[in-house]
Amino acid sequence: MLLSLKIRERNKLATLFIPLVLSSTTLAFMSSPNHTKSKRNLSSLKMASEHTPPKKIVVIGGGIQGASVAYHLVNSLHFPSDGKVTLLESQKLASAASGKGGGFMARSWGDGSVTQILHEMAFDMYEELSSALPLTTYRKLPVLSVSPGKGGLMRPSADVAKSLPKWLDGNVGPIRMMGYGDDTAQVTPQEVVEKFVASSGDKLTVCIGTATGIEMNNDNQVTGVRYSTSSDGSGEQVLECDAVVVSAGPWSCIAEDWFNGIVSLPMEGVKSTSIVWSPPESNEVVDATALFCGEDHRFGTHCKSL
Ligand SMILES: Cc1cc2nc3c(=O)[nH]c(=O)nc-3n(C[C@H](O)[C@H](O)[C@H](O)COP(=O)(O)OP(=O)(O)OC[C@H]3O[C@@H](n4cnc5c(N)ncnc54)[C@H](O)[C@@H]3O)c2cc1C
Repeated sequence: MLLSLKIRERNKLATLFIPLVLSSTTLAFMSSPNHTKSKRNLSSLKMASEHTPPKKIVVIGGGIQGASVAYHLVNSLHFPSDGKVTLLESQKLASAASGKGGGFMARSWGDGSVTQILHEMAFDMYEELSSALPLTTYRKLPVLSVSPGKGGLMRPSADVAKSLPKWLDGNVGPIRMMGYGDDTAQVTPQEVVEKFVASSGDKLTVCIGTATGIEMNNDNQVTGVRYSTSSDGSGEQVLECDAVVVSAGPWSCIAEDWFNGIVSLPMEGVKSTSIVWSPPESNEVVDATALFCGEDHRFGTHCKSL
């Protein structure tokens, strides 16, 4: 079972297909003077960028978002030369959704809302990263929409026939093109996480431990992150810092308890299943095509094959 993230207010998966650098699920805090809990307080929180750049930053969560934030921080022109980032991860890097996700991205599939630009920026960013890091699993690939059906594939269009993977069998109905591989791509998120960390040099340290709270001074300035390396949360230690980024996927909402009621994080986890298929050990080439499959009412199933 895996946990995906759901923004309670919008009642929909928030990050699917938007590989983000910074998103609504990633929150950066430095200081937060004299707040009581209200929506207005979120806007009056001082974000890291409004201050002199912090020198010691703890990023909580070693998934794609936390690793991306850490990588981009240490590579930022504004990051102090003596600055340090600690990536605090409770299990191991990419242990949750970022170790299972299909890593599919589509540049033009946004719905025109405020996140549309993120589709485009993130897609372009990963294309650049595929050479810069470099990423061996990055590939552009065609995408098909496949409906279930009993009749078998009836004369596919020329485009579909060209992109039809050899491994597609079973009872399929109508198939149509959703992407031609110019603005649709895929990368293994785990590789990205590992390469983000490996290419950040000694400015980035990974610490395995579970964040259990935040230390703040009398001015509500963040001074450290409490964490534990034991399964029962005992024996807390503190990572000193002057800024913290909470990027713990669906677990981020626990930070509501850490900031004296200052922030509201209306999100929760959604359990779902994932089947990870390993390619054959032989040198057989497996056609790279992403399929988005319709509901199969015979089994009540919905499937995405990447
Ligand atoms: C089956 C599946 C398929 C998907 N397919 C796609 C796709 O094709 N394209 C796409 O764009 N997206 C896809 N997604 C979504 C995408 O994988 C996620 O949006 C993304 O991986 C979330 O990354 P994250 O870093 O926010 O969270 P996560 O990967 O969940 O990472 C959070 C990390 O925080 C750590 N953590 C939690 N609590 C603490 C704590 N207290 N202290 C320290 N560490 C903590 C966890 O151990 C975890 O490693 C898919 C997701 C799933 C589950």
